[in-house]
Amino acid sequence: MFSQLTLKTSYSDEYFIKVGYDIRNEVIGFLAQGFSTSKIIMVIDGNVDNTFGEDWFNDLKKSFKHVVKCVVPSGEKSKSLSSYNQLLDNILSSGIERKTPLLAIGGGVTGDLAGYVAASVLRGIPLIHVPTTLLAMVDSSIGGKTGINHSTGKNLIGAFYQPKAVFSDLKFLETLPEKEWVNGISEILKCGFINDPSIFEELKELTREGDFSPAKEWKHLVEKSAAIKVHIVARDVKESGIREFLNFGHTFAHVLERIGEYTDYSHGEAVYVGMWAAVFASNKLGADIGIANLKDFKSLYDVYKDGFQTNTDELVSLMQKDKKVQNEKVRLVLLKSLGQPYTRTISDKQLLNSSWDYVKEIFG
Ligand code: ADP
Ligand code: ZN
Repeated sequence: MFSQLTLKTSYSDEYFIKVGYDIRNEVIGFLAQGFSTSKIIMVIDGNVDNTFGEDWFNDLKKSFKHVVKCVVPSGEKSKSLSSYNQLLDNILSSGIERKTPLLAIGGGVTGDLAGYVAASVLRGIPLIHVPTTLLAMVDSSIGGKTGINHSTGKNLIGAFYQPKAVFSDLKFLETLPEKEWVNGISEILKCGFINDPSIFEELKELTREGDFSPAKEWKHLVEKSAAIKVHIVARDVKESGIREFLNFGHTFAHVLERIGEYTDYSHGEAVYVGMWAAVFASNKLGADIGIANLKDFKSLYDVYKDGFQTNTDELVSLMQKDKKVQNEKVRLVLLKSLGQPYTRTISDKQLLNSSWDYVKEIFG
């Protein structure tokens, strides 16, 4: 029996998140029992489909008469209106009903796109997430954010829509490229800073000398990180108060992602750099946080240097233009100490400048 987390949101039924290894049968059992329908929609990432698609499709066929399979090409470009349209065409032409479940198997891209389709088609059909990247397991599959990009910016079209369940099957991680592991590791480190510093030791054990432990052994840490997100999201479903803590390192990160045109820096690399800046700023405002917990993982990252040539004033002014910024006042998530986050509106531009200068020195 796997342990499981429950996320109770104020405006939808509660749902559970289960982390296990090789749990395909259990997922399909849940679907077959929970949804009295002969049809299911399976939306799967292209790369994941190559290795795992056939097994999932064949097993779904044993429980459902019709399996409508849609493959989402790998990569951020699939979070687009045209992919959304294509998916809708496939799904609607297959003749679905309000109770037809949609199973989303993939990373953040597939989850966000398929989630938004599930939220909007027929005003909402049941959504079940099967995240296949470490990042999606600990972060993007939890909390109900769905959406796609618009030509004027990222994630500008979307909805809050909670899934019926999230099943994280660690078996998928066995084929995950190292770069994608590191992407997820940043969000796990973030959980260490904002909530539970015991994460650092555990993560060190699992990444000893740059060799990642077998996927199965990540269960406890994936559960722990997911539980932290669950705990924060459950207390703040629509992102007004404490959910902001999940943005630790992200205000800086978004600037790097932008100047690198979303290709030079992965989200995880940018967040890792952003956490160095946020720790520096926290210390400037009175905290006393050592940098060992950042340094210990630095060899996992190969951060692109050229972005740090950008003028510091320009980096700061980009921060002031972030979509979440009001009146050019930057709000940062900072730490009083490890595990003790707070938010602060920063009027002292000098603090932002010196934080950027600090990371430029480290990564430039
Ligand atoms: P994220 O979850 O980081 O937001 P994506 O959905 O873009 O990111 O997935 C990142 C990349 O990893 C994509 O190229 C995707 O096809 C690939 N991918 C996802 N899951 C797996 C997996 N389990 N094994 C191998 N590749 C995967
Ligand atoms: Zn993030």
